[in-house]
Amino acid sequence: MDEFGLIDHYFTRPSRRPEVVLGVGDDAALLALPGADRHLVVTTDTLIEGVHFALGAPGYDVGYKALAVNVSDLAAMGARPLAFLLNLSLPAIDRAWLAGFREGLFTLADAVALDLVGGDTVRGPLSVTITALGTVPPGGALRRSGARAGDRVYVSGFLGEAALGFFTRSGRLALPPELHAPVLARLDRPLPRIQEGQALAGIASAAIDISDGLVADLGHILKASGVGAEIDLRRLPLSSAYDAAFATVGYDPALVFGDDYELCFTVPPERVPALAGITPRFSCGFHYLGDIVAGHELVLRDGQDVYAPARSGYNHFDG
Ligand SMILES: [Mg+2]
Repeated sequence: MDEFGLIDHYFTRPSRRPEVVLGVGDDAALLALPGADRHLVVTTDTLIEGVHFALGAPGYDVGYKALAVNVSDLAAMGARPLAFLLNLSLPAIDRAWLAGFREGLFTLADAVALDLVGGDTVRGPLSVTITALGTVPPGGALRRSGARAGDRVYVSGFLGEAALGFFTRSGRLALPPELHAPVLARLDRPLPRIQEGQALAGIASAAIDISDGLVADLGHILKASGVGAEIDLRRLPLSSAYDAAFATVGYDPALVFGDDYELCFTVPPERVPALAGITPRFSCGFHYLGDIVAGHELVLRDGQDVYAPARSGYNHFDG
């Protein structure tokens, strides 16, 4: 049983409350509060030392990334950030580490206008759980389930740079030294696409953030929407750092590693001009990868050949 099967089997139930517009199974839940003119968007993520970040990772990077992964889920819903809760489990009070953690946390919180409004602090193994809240107009959220055959598939920014950062830090990849800092920054301090997500609301038919890799996360859109897709790998947006590593690593880090926190989304053909209209506002760019098709398969093409990556993405409890 994998992570998603576990959630389906044990924790997915029919909603009992009319206020629950969208429950378990998307990037965030949607709640309609009586009398409010916007829906509440709620998401949570846990980062554990030794699992999601290395033993001894700097406090700044842990604080920043713990919030970034949650903000990225708000972005994938097209939400406007509101507030967050912080649950921190610490083995001891390490003042220098906590000062860095605080700085990383609030640097991103300030950048996206999120207020810390509560939480809990306990003694235990180092782990960080953040619950982030945002808002959307009723009916305005981006979901995973809206893709239809004929829609185009896009991704923001570059893919695979976080993977290159991971391989560089672990000594498995020897990039030129001047490329180390950019790829490590992409791994440690991803830029959640919060403005982009809000601009895509009303244009995209479905969206998800890329936490587990394009193959896995686009796969979630396909499953939720009941469709397939054909992707042209030669359209993958790869940075100059990735180009420098391509002969060594091939396509897979851009397809199955994850941690990019870019947005993958689909756009109906009639809304492609609207997408072109907002694109100049965002330096990350929106890159066309291929098309949604009938069926349920994700087909990756490298020219005339069908390509199969080594594994389909990060998944706790797999294997
Ligand atoms: Mg997500």
